[in-house]
Amino acid sequence: MIEIEDLRFSYDEGDFFLEIPKLKVAHGETVAIVGPSGSGKTTLLNLIAGTAVPQSGQVTTNGYEISGLHDAARRDFRIANIGLVFQEFELLEYLNVLDNILLPYRINRTLHLGTAVRERAEALAKRVGISDKLTRFVNQLSQGEKQRVAVIRALVMQPPLLLADEPTGNLDPLNKNRVLDILLQYAEQNGATVITVTHDYDILSRFRRVIDFKDFYTHGAEQRPENIAGPM
Ligand code: ADP
Ligand code: MG
Repeated sequence: MIEIEDLRFSYDEGDFFLEIPKLKVAHGETVAIVGPSGSGKTTLLNLIAGTAVPQSGQVTTNGYEISGLHDAARRDFRIANIGLVFQEFELLEYLNVLDNILLPYRINRTLHLGTAVRERAEALAKRVGISDKLTRFVNQLSQGEKQRVAVIRALVMQPPLLLADEPTGNLDPLNKNRVLDILLQYAEQNGATVITVTHDYDILSRFRRVIDFKDFYTHGAEQRPENIAGPM
Protein backbone atom coordinates (compact mmCIF):
# COMPACT_ATOMS: atom_id res chain seq x y z
CA MET A 1 0.00 0.00 0.00
CA ILE A 2 2.81 2.40 0.92
CA GLU A 3 6.43 2.35 -0.14
CA ILE A 4 8.88 5.02 0.81
CA GLU A 5 12.38 5.01 -0.54
CA ASP A 6 15.36 7.30 0.12
CA LEU A 7 13.09 10.02 1.40
CA ARG A 8 14.51 13.37 2.45
CA PHE A 9 12.25 16.14 3.51
CA SER A 10 12.63 19.56 5.07
CA TYR A 11 10.36 22.58 5.34
CA ASP A 12 11.17 25.87 3.60
CA GLU A 13 11.79 27.38 7.00
CA GLY A 14 13.42 25.99 10.11
CA ASP A 15 16.04 23.29 10.53
CA PHE A 16 13.78 20.25 10.79
CA PHE A 17 14.51 17.43 8.42
CA LEU A 18 13.39 13.86 8.04
CA GLU A 19 15.18 10.96 6.38
CA ILE A 20 13.54 7.60 5.75
CA PRO A 21 15.70 5.19 3.73
CA LYS A 22 12.95 2.58 3.43
CA LEU A 23 9.46 2.02 4.76
CA LYS A 24 6.83 -0.39 3.53
CA VAL A 25 3.27 -0.83 4.73
CA ALA A 26 1.27 -3.69 3.24
CA HIS A 27 -2.38 -3.55 2.15
CA GLY A 28 -4.65 -4.18 5.10
CA GLU A 29 -2.00 -3.54 7.72
CA THR A 30 -2.96 -1.56 10.82
CA VAL A 31 -0.06 0.56 12.00
CA ALA A 32 0.52 2.81 14.98
CA ILE A 33 3.22 5.46 14.66
CA VAL A 34 4.81 6.65 17.89
CA GLY A 35 7.54 9.17 18.57
CA PRO A 36 8.38 12.35 20.45
CA SER A 37 6.45 15.54 19.90
CA GLY A 38 7.98 17.43 16.98
CA SER A 39 9.73 14.35 15.56
CA GLY A 40 7.80 14.50 12.28
CA LYS A 41 4.84 12.14 12.67
CA THR A 42 2.33 14.57 11.21
CA THR A 43 4.83 15.45 8.49
CA LEU A 44 5.07 11.77 7.55
CA LEU A 45 1.27 11.49 7.26
CA ASN A 46 1.32 14.56 5.02
CA LEU A 47 4.02 13.00 2.84
CA ILE A 48 1.97 9.80 2.51
CA ALA A 49 -1.15 11.84 1.69
CA GLY A 50 0.70 14.05 -0.77
CA THR A 51 0.00 17.29 1.08
CA ALA A 52 3.78 17.56 1.55
CA VAL A 53 6.34 16.70 -1.12
CA PRO A 54 9.84 15.36 -0.39
CA GLN A 55 13.00 17.09 -1.65
CA SER A 56 14.18 13.73 -2.90
CA GLY A 57 13.15 10.09 -2.88
CA GLN A 58 9.86 8.39 -3.68
CA VAL A 59 6.56 8.03 -1.88
CA THR A 60 4.28 5.48 -3.51
CA THR A 61 0.79 5.25 -2.06
CA ASN A 62 -1.72 2.70 -3.35
CA GLY A 63 0.31 2.27 -6.53
CA TYR A 64 0.71 5.98 -7.32
CA GLU A 65 4.07 7.61 -7.00
CA ILE A 66 2.56 10.71 -5.47
CA SER A 67 5.89 12.44 -5.00
CA GLY A 68 6.00 12.63 -8.82
CA LEU A 69 2.46 13.96 -9.42
CA HIS A 70 1.44 17.57 -10.01
CA ASP A 71 -0.64 19.40 -7.40
CA ALA A 72 -4.02 18.79 -9.03
CA ALA A 73 -3.28 15.12 -9.65
CA ARG A 74 -2.15 14.71 -6.05
CA ARG A 75 -5.39 16.26 -4.82
CA ASP A 76 -7.49 13.96 -7.01
CA PHE A 77 -5.47 11.02 -5.78
CA ARG A 78 -6.07 12.03 -2.17
CA ILE A 79 -9.80 12.45 -2.64
CA ALA A 80 -10.15 9.01 -4.17
CA ASN A 81 -7.82 7.08 -1.89
CA ILE A 82 -7.39 8.60 1.52
CA GLY A 83 -9.60 9.19 4.51
CA LEU A 84 -8.04 11.74 6.84
CA VAL A 85 -8.83 12.12 10.52
CA PHE A 86 -7.27 15.23 12.04
CA GLN A 87 -6.38 15.65 15.68
CA GLU A 88 -8.34 18.88 15.93
CA PHE A 89 -11.27 17.31 14.04
CA GLU A 90 -11.42 20.15 11.46
CA LEU A 91 -15.21 20.16 11.53
CA LEU A 92 -17.06 23.20 10.17
CA GLU A 93 -19.03 25.00 12.86
CA TYR A 94 -21.56 26.53 10.49
CA LEU A 95 -22.67 23.11 9.20
CA ASN A 96 -24.68 20.51 11.03
CA VAL A 97 -23.36 17.03 11.78
CA LEU A 98 -24.75 15.35 8.67
CA ASP A 99 -23.41 18.07 6.37
CA ASN A 100 -20.01 17.79 8.03
CA ILE A 101 -20.01 14.05 7.37
CA LEU A 102 -21.00 14.64 3.76
CA LEU A 103 -18.50 17.46 3.28
CA PRO A 104 -16.12 15.46 1.03
CA TYR A 105 -19.02 15.10 -1.41
CA ARG A 106 -19.79 18.80 -1.34
CA ILE A 107 -16.28 20.01 -2.01
CA ASN A 108 -15.25 17.46 -4.63
CA ARG A 109 -16.98 17.55 -7.96
CA THR A 110 -15.63 14.09 -8.75
CA LEU A 111 -17.77 12.55 -6.01
CA HIS A 112 -21.49 12.05 -6.48
CA LEU A 113 -23.73 12.66 -3.48
CA GLY A 114 -26.60 10.24 -4.03
CA THR A 115 -29.06 8.33 -1.89
CA ALA A 116 -26.62 5.48 -1.30
CA VAL A 117 -24.07 7.87 0.19
CA ARG A 118 -26.64 9.50 2.48
CA GLU A 119 -27.76 6.08 3.65
CA ARG A 120 -24.18 5.04 4.28
CA ALA A 121 -23.56 8.21 6.31
CA GLU A 122 -26.68 7.58 8.38
CA ALA A 123 -25.78 3.92 8.94
CA LEU A 124 -22.29 4.90 10.12
CA ALA A 125 -23.74 7.55 12.42
CA LYS A 126 -26.05 4.97 13.90
CA ARG A 127 -23.22 2.55 14.50
CA VAL A 128 -21.29 5.07 16.55
CA GLY A 129 -24.32 6.31 18.47
CA ILE A 130 -24.80 9.79 17.03
CA SER A 131 -27.79 9.29 14.75
CA ASP A 132 -29.97 11.44 17.00
CA LYS A 133 -27.55 14.35 16.53
CA LEU A 134 -27.34 14.62 12.75
CA THR A 135 -29.12 17.98 12.60
CA ARG A 136 -27.16 19.55 15.45
CA PHE A 137 -24.37 22.04 14.90
CA VAL A 138 -20.99 20.70 15.85
CA ASN A 139 -20.43 23.23 18.64
CA GLN A 140 -23.31 21.51 20.44
CA LEU A 141 -21.39 18.23 20.61
CA SER A 142 -19.03 16.79 23.20
CA GLN A 143 -15.38 16.12 22.29
CA GLY A 144 -16.09 12.41 21.91
CA GLU A 145 -19.04 13.07 19.62
CA LYS A 146 -16.99 15.47 17.50
CA GLN A 147 -14.26 12.90 17.12
CA ARG A 148 -16.78 10.28 16.00
CA VAL A 149 -18.11 12.71 13.38
CA ALA A 150 -14.54 13.30 12.15
CA VAL A 151 -13.96 9.57 11.85
CA ILE A 152 -17.21 8.92 9.99
CA ARG A 153 -16.41 11.74 7.58
CA ALA A 154 -13.18 9.95 6.74
CA LEU A 155 -14.97 6.63 6.20
CA VAL A 156 -17.96 7.74 4.18
CA MET A 157 -16.04 7.64 0.88
CA GLN A 158 -14.85 4.12 1.72
CA PRO A 159 -11.16 4.88 1.16
CA PRO A 160 -8.61 2.04 0.92
CA LEU A 161 -6.29 4.03 3.21
CA LEU A 162 -7.06 5.83 6.46
CA LEU A 163 -4.60 8.26 8.00
CA ALA A 164 -5.45 9.33 11.53
CA ASP A 165 -3.43 11.92 13.44
CA GLU A 166 -3.77 11.27 17.16
CA PRO A 167 -7.46 10.39 16.76
CA THR A 168 -7.88 9.43 20.41
CA GLY A 169 -5.89 12.33 21.83
CA ASN A 170 -8.83 14.25 23.27
CA LEU A 171 -10.94 11.33 24.41
CA ASP A 172 -11.80 9.52 27.62
CA PRO A 173 -11.13 5.74 27.71
CA LEU A 174 -14.66 4.77 26.63
CA ASN A 175 -14.66 7.04 23.58
CA LYS A 176 -11.07 6.13 22.82
CA ASN A 177 -12.03 2.51 22.44
CA ARG A 178 -15.12 3.41 20.48
CA VAL A 179 -13.10 5.37 17.91
CA LEU A 180 -10.52 2.59 17.64
CA ASP A 181 -13.30 0.02 17.22
CA ILE A 182 -14.74 1.98 14.31
CA LEU A 183 -11.38 2.47 12.58
CA LEU A 184 -10.17 -1.09 13.03
CA GLN A 185 -13.49 -2.74 12.19
CA TYR A 186 -13.67 -0.65 9.04
CA ALA A 187 -10.17 -1.83 8.09
CA GLU A 188 -11.01 -5.44 8.76
CA GLN A 189 -14.30 -5.43 6.89
CA ASN A 190 -12.95 -3.55 3.88
CA GLY A 191 -9.36 -4.77 3.74
CA ALA A 192 -8.29 -1.16 4.25
CA THR A 193 -4.97 0.05 5.59
CA VAL A 194 -4.94 2.19 8.73
CA ILE A 195 -2.05 4.36 9.89
CA THR A 196 -2.54 6.09 13.20
CA VAL A 197 -0.24 8.52 14.95
CA THR A 198 -0.58 8.23 18.69
CA HIS A 199 0.94 9.27 21.99
CA ASP A 200 -1.08 6.70 23.79
CA TYR A 201 0.89 3.57 24.64
CA ASP A 202 -2.24 1.88 26.04
CA ILE A 203 -3.70 1.43 22.56
CA LEU A 204 -0.62 0.06 20.78
CA SER A 205 -1.60 -3.55 21.32
CA ARG A 206 -4.65 -3.02 19.13
CA PHE A 207 -2.49 -2.49 16.05
CA ARG A 208 -0.73 -5.16 14.09
CA ARG A 209 2.44 -3.11 13.84
CA VAL A 210 4.13 -0.24 15.65
CA ILE A 211 6.55 2.10 13.89
CA ASP A 212 8.77 4.05 16.24
CA PHE A 213 10.07 7.38 15.00
CA LYS A 214 13.31 6.94 16.81
CA ASP A 215 14.23 4.49 14.03
CA PHE A 216 14.29 7.39 11.55
CA TYR A 217 16.90 10.06 11.31
CA THR A 218 15.39 13.42 12.10
CA HIS A 219 16.88 16.68 13.16
CA GLY A 220 15.44 19.80 14.67
CA ALA A 221 13.29 18.01 17.26
CA GLU A 222 15.95 17.05 19.79
CA GLN A 223 16.25 20.37 21.54
CA ARG A 224 12.58 20.68 22.39
CA PRO A 225 11.93 20.93 26.14
CA GLU A 226 9.08 18.41 26.02
CA ASN A 227 11.48 15.80 24.66
CA ILE A 228 14.11 16.38 27.28
CA ALA A 229 11.49 15.96 30.03
CA GLY A 230 10.37 12.46 29.14
CA PRO A 231 9.84 9.69 26.63
CA MET A 232 6.83 11.32 24.91
P1 ADP B 1 4.91 15.66 15.27
O1 ADP B 1 3.61 15.44 14.55
O2 ADP B 1 5.75 14.44 15.43
O3 ADP B 1 4.70 16.33 16.61
P2 ADP B 1 5.43 17.51 13.09
O4 ADP B 1 5.51 16.63 11.91
O5 ADP B 1 4.20 18.30 13.28
O6 ADP B 1 5.80 16.67 14.41
O7 ADP B 1 6.63 18.56 13.03
C1 ADP B 1 7.99 18.15 12.87
C2 ADP B 1 8.87 19.37 12.95
O8 ADP B 1 8.64 20.21 11.82
C3 ADP B 1 8.66 20.26 14.16
O9 ADP B 1 9.92 20.71 14.57
C4 ADP B 1 7.81 21.40 13.64
O10 ADP B 1 8.04 22.56 14.37
C5 ADP B 1 8.29 21.52 12.22
N1 ADP B 1 7.26 22.00 11.31
C6 ADP B 1 6.00 21.54 11.17
N2 ADP B 1 5.33 22.18 10.21
C7 ADP B 1 6.18 23.12 9.71
C8 ADP B 1 6.10 24.12 8.71
N3 ADP B 1 4.99 24.28 7.98
N4 ADP B 1 7.19 24.88 8.47
C9 ADP B 1 8.33 24.72 9.18
N5 ADP B 1 8.48 23.79 10.15
C10 ADP B 1 7.42 22.99 10.43
MG1 MG C 1 1.64 15.87 15.06
